[in-house]
Amino acid sequence: MDTAKVRELDAAHYMHPFTDTKALGEKGARVMVRGEGIYLWDSEGNKILDGMSGLWCVNVGYGRSSIADAVHKQMTTLPFYNSFFNTTNVPAVQLAAKLVEIAPPGFNHVFYTNSGSEANDTNVRMVRRYWDLKGQPQRHVIISRHNAYHGSTMAGASLGGMSGMHEQGGLPIPGIVHIGQPNYLDDGAGMSEHDFGLKAASWLEEQIHEVGADKVAAFIGEPIQGAGGVVIPPASYWPEIQRICDKYGVLLIADEVICGFGRLGRWFASELFGMKPDLITFAKGVTSGYVPLGGVLVGDRVADVLIGQGGEFNHGFTYSGHPVACAAALENIRIIEEEGLVRRVAEQTGPYLKRRFATLGDHPLVGVAESCGFVAGLNLVRRKGATIHDSERFDENLAVGMICRAHMFDNGMIMRAVGDRMIIAPPLIMTEAQIDEMVALIRSCLDKTLADLQQRGWI
Ligand code: PMP
Repeated sequence: MDTAKVRELDAAHYMHPFTDTKALGEKGARVMVRGEGIYLWDSEGNKILDGMSGLWCVNVGYGRSSIADAVHKQMTTLPFYNSFFNTTNVPAVQLAAKLVEIAPPGFNHVFYTNSGSEANDTNVRMVRRYWDLKGQPQRHVIISRHNAYHGSTMAGASLGGMSGMHEQGGLPIPGIVHIGQPNYLDDGAGMSEHDFGLKAASWLEEQIHEVGADKVAAFIGEPIQGAGGVVIPPASYWPEIQRICDKYGVLLIADEVICGFGRLGRWFASELFGMKPDLITFAKGVTSGYVPLGGVLVGDRVADVLIGQGGEFNHGFTYSGHPVACAAALENIRIIEEEGLVRRVAEQTGPYLKRRFATLGDHPLVGVAESCGFVAGLNLVRRKGATIHDSERFDENLAVGMICRAHMFDNGMIMRAVGDRMIIAPPLIMTEAQIDEMVALIRSCLDKTLADLQQRGWI
């Protein structure tokens, strides 16, 4: 099928996620046809460096035939059977045992879903069920953060703090409230990072008092907020959040859909930030996106109650523990282990990316460029100051980030824009030479963006 025909049918029939489908139809979608390693190719033969790992998920890179082989073998052996009626399947069991092995201490159970959104819906039901069983059914409120992303189902979008999502469909659902995010770059002017981290954590305690400590079931957060713009919290933030959760007995849910499976140089980023979560949401990197799979790692505090005294948990999906998805995950995790990708990101390529990405900070458009593990972000500014807080930002209506993203995309680099913050989350297989290539490509696209903005008279 030629590209024009694909675009025509796409415009006619395919309603895209998070897209103005009418506008896209007029413009014509880019048709991705192939991937290998860290690169993609579109239908017009353009090679593109995928700085976003698909959508924060293709951790082991594209073109892994051993995952395809594992999937093929499972499909021809047992393509599907459910886990509802006192039955199980081998890959689901093997994967559960493997996940428990790589999880932080105190995690011995796994509940499977098909996506991160469903996993967070599962979390809502699990924590409320937990408190029911504990004889405190009034403890049903879950606290989250503005600008968080926890999925697009009714509960996922409600847990998330995206105002654009809440505006559509009467969200959030009852019993979910939000506090500010630990965004030092945007909100920390005049404070040290350390003090700002403590202040941002104190908003949780304030919210607990406002709701009433006896009504708060859980707090949910991404260790590093991803879709919100790679918001790297000050080091003081998570330990203080943990202290507050412990003080009030509030369950802590770490949404590791992006941060898990090596992205921050640990199997789970909770370990990096000193979090001791009760539940961990996972998806994306568990299969490197080759097939859909998500789930919840259930810590002993919750499992002991739900399994130990809960009886039947009336929740699940047809495809919970899908044997094909679990087979893909097992092979994906085997690859991560065999190639030592978690340690490589922690000790070698993560620190290298940090050094190289930070060099972009000298570009006239860049206020700050920072990274943690294999996520990174830079802020576009109109005029640089001594610190990001002294820099002059662009009028947000100019949508400078989208202009920059277009220059990246047109020149073979996938980098995402969140407002005027440009972010990446590259595949974990990226080598040092490829990091150099990526940073050079980003710099040349920033040059093009600068020239464009100067021409518009915006600088
Ligand atoms: N949680 C986080 C932190 C995410 O980044 C995402 C997806 N970007 C989700 C949940 C939702 O996952 P899914 O799109 O698989 O439903």
